[in-house]
Amino acid sequence: MRAPFNPWEMACQQLDLVAGKIDLDPGIHAKLRSCKRALIVSLPVQMDDGSIQVFEGYRVQHNLDRGPAKGGIRYHPDVTLDEVKAMAMWMTWKCAVVNIPYGGAKGGVICDPSDMSLKEVENLTRRLTSEISIIIGPEKDIPAPDVNTNPQVMSWIMDTYSMGVGYSAPGVVTGKPVEMGGSLGRHTATGRGAMLVLHEAMKRFKMEPAETRIAIQGFGKVGSSLAQYLDELGCPIVAVTDISGGLFNQKGIDIPALLEHTRAAPGGLIAGFAGGDFVEDVETANRQLLGLEVEVLAPCALENQITTENAHQVKARMVVEGANGPTTPEADEILQSNGVFVLPDILANAGGVTVSYFEWVQDLQSLFWDEDSIDRELTRIMTRGFHDVMEIAEREQCSMRLAAYMLAVNRVANAVRWRGVFP
Ligand code: GLU
Repeated sequence: MRAPFNPWEMACQQLDLVAGKIDLDPGIHAKLRSCKRALIVSLPVQMDDGSIQVFEGYRVQHNLDRGPAKGGIRYHPDVTLDEVKAMAMWMTWKCAVVNIPYGGAKGGVICDPSDMSLKEVENLTRRLTSEISIIIGPEKDIPAPDVNTNPQVMSWIMDTYSMGVGYSAPGVVTGKPVEMGGSLGRHTATGRGAMLVLHEAMKRFKMEPAETRIAIQGFGKVGSSLAQYLDELGCPIVAVTDISGGLFNQKGIDIPALLEHTRAAPGGLIAGFAGGDFVEDVETANRQLLGLEVEVLAPCALENQITTENAHQVKARMVVEGANGPTTPEADEILQSNGVFVLPDILANAGGVTVSYFEWVQDLQSLFWDEDSIDRELTRIMTRGFHDVMEIAEREQCSMRLAAYMLAVNRVANAVRWRGVFP
């Protein structure tokens, strides 16, 4: 029987692979193979019926050698400490690939927010913030949105932290509403960043947008904004799935109409949209989506989606990973031997943390940029990231993933070398 998927083991496996390739010093390898800090908190929360429910939460900082820790907070029933540790390590590499001055962190709470009222989510968030306030702060560790967290949750984090320190501290968290120190363009930044690197890849391989059919798994923050930007670029989006099922239309889905539908639909789901064939069974829909005859497959939901079980079925020429960790290392090998060009998560979804970086810089300076400046800087950083990685991949004749890891791990290892080991 196959061992259950463990994201932390997967993250370590990815690091080990690159360590061999770049001849990483064994001491630095050992340091990077563990997380600097992991805080486990228990969160008693007053529920609407007056009862108290206790949730478990985590904040993990993987590495701080290149700057303060940065990474999202996830609310999901399947959160585990190992998942949060893996995500924290991936944040370290992500920030290093696009060369922004942060180390990696991540947070999570085991909960199902779809089963909780807004007030309960607020109580949970405020208690979490209070419990992790000993390690977060504008100069220490800056949380952000991730799966099932949003600008409202970030506002509560900012407010609770500010109450504790006695002044408004917008720089403690990113992904806030624009009205209270958030940045223009943050909400759609991950999708925009993924579109930008994909567009560079399309230019590189001379793929015309109108002939580049796209299938997207996940229609949340990342998948929906990626769909919007690719639609604007002129690519037909022929399939989209979410937790309510899958929508298929060979002629291309009307994305503006689908976006309007999800904005009005309960839970923001695609079910009930008329513009295509709808498959209700989520597993069947995802299986169909992964095996579709398309040019680009974009997994934008959770980790562990392209596995040894289905990697052989992928017919796409390219995979752009909007999600964190959607492809297992074994599946990655299969994709590579089948000639699929993979834009890896640590590059493809780095647009979110990049605009988070802009938000943090704006907050610290109390000087806010217009949307054109954000778009221009995001384009510059994502394009540079793509070409830096592409150059290594071509020179080393390796996958974009290995190239991205080589770039990132080398950058972090150099910082470790310069700083030395305390004491
Ligand atoms: N949660 C996002 C990610 O996985 C954003 C992190 C951030 O903005 O700090 O990249």
